[in-house]
Amino acid sequence: MEIKLVNVGKKYEGRENFTIRHINLEIDDKDFCVILGPSGCGKSTLLRMIAGLNSITEGEMYFGDRLINKVEPKDRDIAMVFQSYALYPHMTVYDNMAFSLAMRKERKEVIHERVMEAAEILQITDYLYSRPSDISGGQRQRVALGRAMVRKPSVFLMDEPLSNLDAKLREHMRVELVRLHKSLNTTSIYVTHDQTEAMTMATRIVLLNDGQIQQVGKPEEFYNRPANLFVAGFIGSPTMNTFSGHYRNGKFISENENIIVTPNAEDQAALAPFEGKAVHLGIRSERFLSGEGDDGKIKANVEVVEMLGKEKLLYCKLSDGSECTISQPGYFEYAPDEIHNFHLDKDGLHFFDSESSERIN
Ligand code: ADP
Ligand code: MG
Repeated sequence: MEIKLVNVGKKYEGRENFTIRHINLEIDDKDFCVILGPSGCGKSTLLRMIAGLNSITEGEMYFGDRLINKVEPKDRDIAMVFQSYALYPHMTVYDNMAFSLAMRKERKEVIHERVMEAAEILQITDYLYSRPSDISGGQRQRVALGRAMVRKPSVFLMDEPLSNLDAKLREHMRVELVRLHKSLNTTSIYVTHDQTEAMTMATRIVLLNDGQIQQVGKPEEFYNRPANLFVAGFIGSPTMNTFSGHYRNGKFISENENIIVTPNAEDQAALAPFEGKAVHLGIRSERFLSGEGDDGKIKANVEVVEMLGKEKLLYCKLSDGSECTISQPGYFEYAPDEIHNFHLDKDGLHFFDSESSERIN
């Protein structure tokens, strides 16, 4: 099912401002769309509007060609999994999964078939007759997914379904959810504040801030071409390094002139209208090359070294006191409080208009 939002907005009663503003969005059939953004930016509000649990203040929402603004949740052919996926404690796993179908007076054989099928996919067949209190958190989370799956919805909605699990299990469930999506092939919308979840699972990411879309695209597009400084700061771990400065005579010059770099020809063409203007340079940690090089040199005092195995993260201070994070191969040797020379990889430079914070190159 395709979902389309046209200029959708939400204003809660008693609130001065709109919580969701001018959302224009098309979600393709069978997409795994992740709505990402900081806490309080309106993710759950938007998801609940798609589910029909929140009213839509302005704009139009379509499922396929059907305008659904006023359609009841139960008539939208959706299933939703919440962060707090309270299962009925006195019922078995089987009955928890069967419950919604039983309520709808579905035939027993149909219910059995659906529950068994979902249990098979989720690998929970072995404890169908256990109670929720007797299984682990990860297993309970799968039961919650199963409960939604048995309804065979056209749209699957999930609101931070992994946030109650520990880190290891979350990592595991990310892969499981991608597999599950592949086998179900159902349009899914998944809400999270965790950029790693978005980057690893999404076919498409919608990044929200303050109720407005900042960027829509594939994970690679977010990483390689963040649309503005907010996106640049939100996506990627460690966070992209940014330096304020000017573009002058074909060079970027940082505020205290400790970074001077001539961008590549393509970036120079994009930067031409910004001659003499304030711009921000962005560069990811892995785009610092070891050694002096002949342009874009920096001298960095390596203050803290984090050994992560395949890479080392170097938390550095430059001569003007500004900070940056540099990644180098794990087998390179660094001792804390040594000064090292690096230079910038010119194919990894991002430029932003300091005034509007929009991407330039
Ligand atoms: P997120 O899921 O991104 O953390 P929410 O959608 O839950 O954000 O909330 C967005 C904003 O809307 C917050 O400022 C929140 O306080 C407000 N909000 C959420 N629900 C209601 C409500 N029922 N009535 C009034 N304001 C609400
Ligand atoms: Mg929320």
